[in-house]
Amino acid sequence: MIAAVDIGGTKIAVGMVDNSGRVLSRAECPTHADRGYREALGRIEDLVRAMAAVAGAELSGIGIGSTGPIDPFTGEIGDVFFFRTWRGENPAKDLARIFRVSVATENDADAAALAEAAWGAGRNKKRLIYITVGTGIGGGVILDGRLYRGVDGAHPEIGHHVIDTSGPACMCGFHGCWESLAAGPAMLGWLKSTMPKDYPNAANLTAKRICELARGGDALARQAVEREAHYLGLGMANLVTLFTPDVIVLGGSVMKSADLFLDKIRETIRGSCRFVPHGKTELALASLGEDANLIGAARVWHHRFAEQGGGQCA
Ligand SMILES: [Zn+2]
Repeated sequence: MIAAVDIGGTKIAVGMVDNSGRVLSRAECPTHADRGYREALGRIEDLVRAMAAVAGAELSGIGIGSTGPIDPFTGEIGDVFFFRTWRGENPAKDLARIFRVSVATENDADAAALAEAAWGAGRNKKRLIYITVGTGIGGGVILDGRLYRGVDGAHPEIGHHVIDTSGPACMCGFHGCWESLAAGPAMLGWLKSTMPKDYPNAANLTAKRICELARGGDALARQAVEREAHYLGLGMANLVTLFTPDVIVLGGSVMKSADLFLDKIRETIRGSCRFVPHGKTELALASLGEDANLIGAARVWHHRFAEQGGGQCA
């Protein structure tokens, strides 16, 4: 039984996950980054103990998925936008000391990619790219069941490849990267900047609400969805041209409305990926649902330890 710890910008989820990816118990709390790392670590410790008790299980290891940047080898937290004061802290080391088990850490998108590859929509696929589209765009690349890393364990920043240099500025340093054009806030921002003063649906707009309005026939929302699908399609087409994976697995809150975007995405791929067998790349929806990141955190442990000949490594 692996304890999974998913550290996000707004919440921390903890659960017990069995060897086939089933969540046996789960609980969550707000991240409360402002209260400091030690306080958060204490809450994580309490939740791990409580969830292990609920599941009636003995811990064999702990897997952590965290919003990044985080060093996958040392477990050290980098300069994370949501908890800047936690920089240099190391939950992997701390939890290993507290619980006396092996602990592994990955970026949360890589964690979800590992989970979808092992237990989800990417099962039995040799080459998989996982993409999550929500408030940002993240992803992970899995080749033969192993996570692709760059130099020094670098996590590929798939959401920040450039689509249109005349696009909006992003924190990454580029103008018009994929995230700046196709993440949920981009769709919302475009509609807000385009809507007439008397737009009847202006109240409480979110990316999710825009999708609902588009389904209901709202012309402007349909335009926003069309534009979103166009930019999603361009980014996916680039991935198909560069990698031609067996499958691109799509997750994240925006992809809950994937049916609104998929036709256009497929059309864009068909129209622009002529030098590769693009028809062989399947687009699949993530299948692990709301718990993908939590299940992913558990999979991080298996990926690091269980498949390398036992779980005793420190
Ligand atoms: Zn960017």
